[in-house]
Amino acid sequence: MTTHRAKKSLGQNFLVDANQQRRIVAALEAGSGDTVIEIGPGQGALTRHIAGSVARLFLVELDRDLAPALENEFADDPAVTVIQADVLDTDLREMVGGDMSSVKVVGNIPYNITTPIIFRLLERELRPERIVIMIQREVADRILAGPGESEYGALSVGVQSVARAERLFNVGRGSFRPVPRVDSTVLLIRPISPPPLTARDEEDLRDLTRTVFSWRRKQLQKTLRSAPAYALDSARVDAVQQQTGIALDRRPEQLAPDQFISLARALRDNREAANHTSPRAP
Ligand code: SAM
Repeated sequence: MTTHRAKKSLGQNFLVDANQQRRIVAALEAGSGDTVIEIGPGQGALTRHIAGSVARLFLVELDRDLAPALENEFADDPAVTVIQADVLDTDLREMVGGDMSSVKVVGNIPYNITTPIIFRLLERELRPERIVIMIQREVADRILAGPGESEYGALSVGVQSVARAERLFNVGRGSFRPVPRVDSTVLLIRPISPPPLTARDEEDLRDLTRTVFSWRRKQLQKTLRSAPAYALDSARVDAVQQQTGIALDRRPEQLAPDQFISLARALRDNREAANHTSPRAP
């Protein structure tokens, strides 16, 4: 491959430590029957450890210079498909031919779009079997945080309610070129199958956590009274507290993911009951 000038705008910090490359690929546990998607293959640091050992390998790379170079390098391997595109605009399901549930996803992903990529991969229809990603350590901490921790928020609840996430290992800055300004962590995320929540639960949970964590220092009941999407009055606050057993004078960071799920369901029931009983407009 010809010398490539790293593009900051595309989050290009290439992993040059062969040991770490091998550890990441080993964690994917991909074998000869597997379909693998690599997000942001760059100059092929991880790709070279995967190609030749899986049934199908899709490489989604946005860089217009690097994608053709990868095509060249793997031209003789019919298992490899290079897609020059933004992963966030790519229909991954269509790309692999329909079913994502047995697909494995790997990537040393661009740090500026880590959260959107994770949310994308955890969309109901897109959830793969296994995700091994290297991300900024602070974002990994936010994903893994539990109730009461300062990093705990909508991202933690969103991931933990549909998947099991674990830290595999940290990777120091010296393993990359150019050397980044942040430390990295390799995470394993395994979506729970079949999905534990209904599509509606997931939607309500997402709306709720986004709303309440926007005011993370406020008591839940205060946010649920003032946010237009909920606009609870005192009677409804009492009804929701009674149904869930959750005291709403607590702050969002104190609730566990399963309590958020109960709360989202109770708020929905309550909204539906209110719609049902409200007098018809003249
Ligand atoms: N996997 C390589 C490695 O480990 O050395 C490169 C990692 S580098 C941190 C991130 C890669 O993602 C770059 O190759 C970059 O061009 C690519 N990239 C950035 N934004 C992207 C996007 N929206 N969709 C797909 N690839 C993207």
